[in-house]
Amino acid sequence: MALLELRNINKYYRLKDNDKFHVLNDINLSFNAGELVSIIGESGSGKSTLMNLIGGLDSDFSGELLVNEKDIKKLRRKELDKYRKNEVGFIFQSFNLIGHLSVLDNVTIAMTLSNVRKKERLKRAKEILRDLGLENHINKKPSQLSGGQKQRVAIARALINNPKIIIADEPTGSLDSKTTIQVLEIMKDISRKGKLVIMVTHSERVASASSRIIKISDGEIIDDNKVIELDNEVNIEKQDNIGKQKQNLSLISSAKLALVNMKEKLPRNILVSVGGSIGIMSIILMLSLGNGVKSYFNKTMNNYVNPLVIEVNMPSEEDENINLDVTTVQKPDVNSTKPFEESDIDTLSKIENVSSVERGYSIISLGANSLVYNNKTNNLMNVSTISSNITAANVETGTLPKDGEVLINKALSDNLGKDIIGQKVNLRMLANQKILNRDFIVSGVYTTTSGDLTANMKSAFLNYADLEKLYSDDGYKLKPNVVYVNTTNSKYTPQIKQKVNELGYSQSSQEQMASMFNQMIDILTYVLSGIAAISLIVSAIMIIVVMYISVVERTKEIGIIKAIGARAKDIRRIFVSEAFLIGFFSGAIGLIGAYFIMRGINLMSNKLFAVSVVLIKREYAILGVTVSIVISTLAGLLPANKAARLDPVESLRRE
Ligand code: ADP
Ligand code: MG
Repeated sequence: MALLELRNINKYYRLKDNDKFHVLNDINLSFNAGELVSIIGESGSGKSTLMNLIGGLDSDFSGELLVNEKDIKKLRRKELDKYRKNEVGFIFQSFNLIGHLSVLDNVTIAMTLSNVRKKERLKRAKEILRDLGLENHINKKPSQLSGGQKQRVAIARALINNPKIIIADEPTGSLDSKTTIQVLEIMKDISRKGKLVIMVTHSERVASASSRIIKISDGEIIDDNKVIELDNEVNIEKQDNIGKQKQNLSLISSAKLALVNMKEKLPRNILVSVGGSIGIMSIILMLSLGNGVKSYFNKTMNNYVNPLVIEVNMPSEEDENINLDVTTVQKPDVNSTKPFEESDIDTLSKIENVSSVERGYSIISLGANSLVYNNKTNNLMNVSTISSNITAANVETGTLPKDGEVLINKALSDNLGKDIIGQKVNLRMLANQKILNRDFIVSGVYTTTSGDLTANMKSAFLNYADLEKLYSDDGYKLKPNVVYVNTTNSKYTPQIKQKVNELGYSQSSQEQMASMFNQMIDILTYVLSGIAAISLIVSAIMIIVVMYISVVERTKEIGIIKAIGARAKDIRRIFVSEAFLIGFFSGAIGLIGAYFIMRGINLMSNKLFAVSVVLIKREYAILGVTVSIVISTLAGLLPANKAARLDPVESLRRE
């Protein structure tokens, strides 16, 4: 039984204009294990083409190519990959070592493609390299070796998966006569161990040392001579490797290979990563800025709000019916908007965890109400009752108003003069075209806060009971237009707020404004991040271009690893891993950059306004890095596919 048999092999190269070139003409050959075959013939006679067929690199031929009686042509792609990986070892004239890998890695890569464990890989590679006298060179790069040493590394690589057939296309073509003999001895040795060795050669010396010489001319076998019978050790291992190793290149190995490749072109990959990081950095910064502005705003808003008090308003109605009824002779309500009725107060006080409900009244009037002091009239823009949401912390000087007292704000106290605290003033309120009045003592001055829009409006604050009295003295009834719901623990506040909303009441005007402002900041943040995201398209294109260049540069390398058994999938995986890593580094650089820019901006804003305006969140960091990885990996798919589809024979011919 022949190990390798070629039956009626014909091959044509398609030329343009539908021309065909008959490169192999009806080849019939049969080889046994242990043979050392030399194929000789003029340049262009078809030797390399024949080797590529036997090596499983080229399936575009007619006829049968039987290995152990299995037709290579009928193998599925996967099996063919396995055949290349485990059944044949390829040795080239120009060595075809991968320049950026060490001697050891060049040898182990074939096993890496089979996902052999690292320990096992190293053991086997070191053994073979020692047998070939290379034990002192395993960490060198191919460029640091002599021609003979390089070819021995290539031989080691061909032998590493213990193939039954070794194909060598002019293995001594680039070597001097001394190293030629060395390599020839190694080849003899290999065949002696029971492998079939087929060499293409021009050297008389090599040919004459073979067990068989085949002459080829213009694609035809013109001579087939058994010269000598080699004294083989007859320990031909009967083993069928096809289908034995199911393992393929692992993800970790492909990432490692990708890292080694990237290190080779370090400056370029750093530049690409930095370029890609700019978009990510901008997005993270925009989101963080929006977050910072929002949280600053909300903090200032909440600083002066007692968390145990929930302000409740009547919902604003489109068509407010004005209760200030001028036509009735009866004493009407004083309210101009829909007031809270006793039933409302009852409903609110029944909400879970509500400890008490306070009535309040607030009226904004354009000077209809006033405060008279020393016969001078000061128009009031706002009169409000005080409630538990105003605490001593809100009083700048003086105290909170007790019964018969009034608290005034800064705008008003500026008008009334310095020593107003403790003085008697007359509060005049307009109700139903009649002015009601009552005397009060000024208790203190209300603190003005930066976020307070009423800061410039002259305002007075007094107790609800006092205001009620002011009206009831004249027979008017005051109904609250704002209600303060108190609770005992701020943890209940959100639930109560929600319940209040469900019951159809409104939150405080301050809160309404805050949520509007928050919404605006959100929209602005998304728009700005969207604009920043445009730069991601630029970085995606950049990655595509750079990786295409890399595929072109590494065409030969791709051909080599395909020749030693890499599947299209493996090649794609290596390139996609590279894109993934670039994305990861871009994201990481972007994140670090964003962090430092944030620190810088906050340092300045803290100096100027005592505020950190950029606040990064963990979600933004994760989002940024993820987006970077996804975009980069997607961009890498195109070039990776191009690499995966490269024809190994074509690629190997590339210089
Ligand atoms: P050898 O290795 O014996 O020098 P090759 O097998 O490389 O010869 O080439 C055999 C012939 O086929 C040559 O004439 C060469 O020009 C031709 N040839 C090789 N590859 C191609 C190809 N891809 N397309 C067309 N012709 C080719
Ligand atoms: Mg050739």
